[in-house]
Amino acid sequence: MSDRVIPLVDQRSRVRPVALSNEPHPATGHLLDALSRPLRDLRISVTDRCNFRCSYCMPKEVFDKDYPYLPHSALLSFEEITRLTRQFVSHGVQKIRLTGGEPLLRKHIERLIEQLAALRTVDGQPLDITLTTNGSLLERKAQALKDAGLQRVTVSLDGLDDAVFRAMNDVDFPVRDVLRGIDAALAAGLGPIKVNMVVKRGTNDHEILPMARHFSGTGVVLRFIEYMDVGATNGWRMDEVLPSVEVVRRIASELPLVQLDPSAPGETAERWGYADALGRHDAAAGEIGVISSVTQAFCGSCNRARLSTEGKLYLCLFASEGHDLRPLLRGGASDEQIADALAGIWQGRSDRYSELRASLPPEAPGEGRRRVEMSYIGG
Ligand code: SF4
Repeated sequence: MSDRVIPLVDQRSRVRPVALSNEPHPATGHLLDALSRPLRDLRISVTDRCNFRCSYCMPKEVFDKDYPYLPHSALLSFEEITRLTRQFVSHGVQKIRLTGGEPLLRKHIERLIEQLAALRTVDGQPLDITLTTNGSLLERKAQALKDAGLQRVTVSLDGLDDAVFRAMNDVDFPVRDVLRGIDAALAAGLGPIKVNMVVKRGTNDHEILPMARHFSGTGVVLRFIEYMDVGATNGWRMDEVLPSVEVVRRIASELPLVQLDPSAPGETAERWGYADALGRHDAAAGEIGVISSVTQAFCGSCNRARLSTEGKLYLCLFASEGHDLRPLLRGGASDEQIADALAGIWQGRSDRYSELRASLPPEAPGEGRRRVEMSYIGG
């Protein structure tokens, strides 16, 4: 049992009220923040509940049966989420990622996907709609998600060794069922599928090579995520972080790699392709990615906003307060006023926590800067 410190402050309550203008400015489709970063990617948390208790996200000691989960009445309805998304899209959003908690626990999520799939970007293109899941319900839901308009899925899987995986998700859920979910998603055409593995030194880092061997040549893109100090409950320590350079070195020691260019602006993963005998990218073998928020911050191109399940806007994964949009939705504000309010919020954004992390004064145990929980705003 680790000496985890349980915070007493419910971070969700720290919000800034949002001012409305009587003369809203029309949306331009090209909104920039204070560091000239565009708004391109909206992550929408559709539930604060999950059926896993991954130690780096929703530790069981904190998120137990007495944890004050949000009542259903507090959640934004699908119509409210779609209405808000339409305003974000008017400012340039092109990609939607549905998250949680575990998004597939939200009943009838297909209906939300249908509504979002009907939206168009400012250039008249369909939105890129994806979803991050722990895979536990994917085998059952994959085809319905595809039929509703979902394009891709990202599945979290922290190891192939059943004992390690069960230890990480802390609910005794078998790897076999997640792998069957990935197969069902592949069969439904929800690709290219990405698999995210959070690497915690001393817990599952010995699974790096077995995971790479398993997914190379399958078309699945495996990404290794550095263990992060998200929220205030996971007892994060720097000595449990395995830097991505070490992940790449370990894989390359057996499966030669060649670095690839980013596939989109603001992409969080650094791409490495499996190399053939001549050192060129072997496309059939595929690629991996590393996401290095701790050792190689990528805040400079961060174009992501996060919407909590009850309508609070967060401008950074490590934010300590949000902007409450629900009163606007339920208080009679017009679409133009909401769009204008979003513009004001984004234009004032200067978040770059990962870049500043190393220069911040060390935190005493339990005194973490009350960062909002990842399970509340999505990864
Ligand atoms: S730390 Fe915040 S600003 Fe930096 S990349 Fe992550 S979410 Fe973006």
